[in-house]
Amino acid sequence: MLPYALVRSRRRRTLCLQINPAGELRLLVPTSTSQSAIDAFLDAKADWIKRTLNRLDQAPKVPPFATGLPLIYLDEVLHLQLNYRPGGATVKRDGLTLSVVATDEGRARAALEAWYREAARHQGVARIIHFAPLVGRAPQHIRIAGQKTRWGSCSAHGTISLNWRLMLVPGALFDYVVAHELCHLIHAHHGPRFWRELERVMPDYEQRRRELHKRGAQLSF
Ligand SMILES: [Zn+2]
Repeated sequence: MLPYALVRSRRRRTLCLQINPAGELRLLVPTSTSQSAIDAFLDAKADWIKRTLNRLDQAPKVPPFATGLPLIYLDEVLHLQLNYRPGGATVKRDGLTLSVVATDEGRARAALEAWYREAARHQGVARIIHFAPLVGRAPQHIRIAGQKTRWGSCSAHGTISLNWRLMLVPGALFDYVVAHELCHLIHAHHGPRFWRELERVMPDYEQRRRELHKRGAQLSF
């Protein structure tokens, strides 16, 4: 039998087996579950475990969330320095090192995302200040969003939303989304006049647009 982590829980009623992207097994069981029940459950799952591990072997490796993990930050690559310690979570950048201190991985990831959101807000404001005079319009509000499928949006009330994950692509592509959404303040559609306006502000917008679409799949750390 493969090694597995056993988690007993009073709230749990059924047995549940999980395999994470690193191929580690975790078995969640009700407190009173006997070892023979656990063994029988794992036996019944043997085929599924084999299939899942095989599939993971063939899948591109997800780098572990650990010290040394490269983190894209616009045109820079930062390196994660991770320390698990009791107390509040902190994130601090020093040169190209991003030091995250938290009690566990979940809180470390949450703190990192909050830090990226804040960075996205600063970058978004700075780039809107840069592009707004070129477009001739400025938004009423700027919102930082986190959808999995949208880079940005512009509401009828003049709110521009930017996805914090834009920090995980080169700055030229962040700029593309800013210019694109600002142009929606003039044309609330994707008709020829909208694209002409965007081209006036950003002559190489098409190339940036294509590049951004290619990045859609790698939107995470
Ligand atoms: Zn659009």
